[in-house]
Amino acid sequence: DFHVGVSGLVKVYPGATAPAVDNVTFSLPRGEMLALLGPSGCGKTTILRMIAGLVDPTAGEIVLNGRSIAAIPVHKRNIGMVFQAYALFPHMSIAENIAFGLEMRGVDRSERDQRVRRALDLVKLSGLGERRVSQLSGGQQQRAAIARSLVIDPELLLFDEPLSNLDAKLRDEMRDEIRDIQARTGVTAIFVTHDQEEALSMADRLVVMSNGKVEQIGTPGDIFDRP
Ligand code: ADP
Ligand code: ADP
Repeated sequence: DFHVGVSGLVKVYPGATAPAVDNVTFSLPRGEMLALLGPSGCGKTTILRMIAGLVDPTAGEIVLNGRSIAAIPVHKRNIGMVFQAYALFPHMSIAENIAFGLEMRGVDRSERDQRVRRALDLVKLSGLGERRVSQLSGGQQQRAAIARSLVIDPELLLFDEPLSNLDAKLRDEMRDEIRDIQARTGVTAIFVTHDQEEALSMADRLVVMSNGKVEQIGTPGDIFDRP
């Protein structure tokens, strides 16, 4: 029984000679964290974007909770995404950034305030809600971006290279932090990385890719122990 499943997924970009994603199949149980691992250009981000609904698959199916996402309108999919460069709105406060998705969904003021406060607590940014984006460090901005994605209680959380913009020290800290937040919220998550150590230390399950294809699927133990 799985929560998220991808089957026979293909993406051929217009004008491309080879598929960016070539018949990819994997599934993920509820509450687990999966890494899409592989070198630059192997199709990881394209898979993430198809799951997020930002790119249309050429073929194949993505199933969430037993339903094909193609059958669910984009605004009802409830999939959160944390982008590489945070993509926070610079003219808004941190709290306003986090509240934005709730406002879009018509959540009223008092519930919004409560949920924003809870999200700030979760990512250890309590008391910093009134700050502007530019008044936060890189790690704090990353936390704010995670809070903004989590506040809508997503069915699935996607991360695009979550640690690649951080310096080495922050990277270790955020690696533990993201893992901890994911475990505490129990949210099913998928992240993309080209860093094997990152994938092995953060993921419950790995999909190792090369040239648009799946090379291996397994737990960090399975993949690490293989000769
Ligand atoms: P990764 O995330 O593993 O670096 P991508 O999914 O970004 O890989 O890219 C896979 C392949 O698809 C690459 O050859 C890339 O150049 C190509 N590609 C990515 N995005 C586009 C696009 N919008 N249009 C055309 N080709 C693209
Ligand atoms: P990443 O590997 O993190 O996706 P890239 O530098 O490959 O970063 O891609 C940056 C942007 O350019 C993305 O929006 C991607 O979709 C687009 N892109 C990548 N390759 C191509 C391509 N061959 N043709 C058109 N757009 C592309």
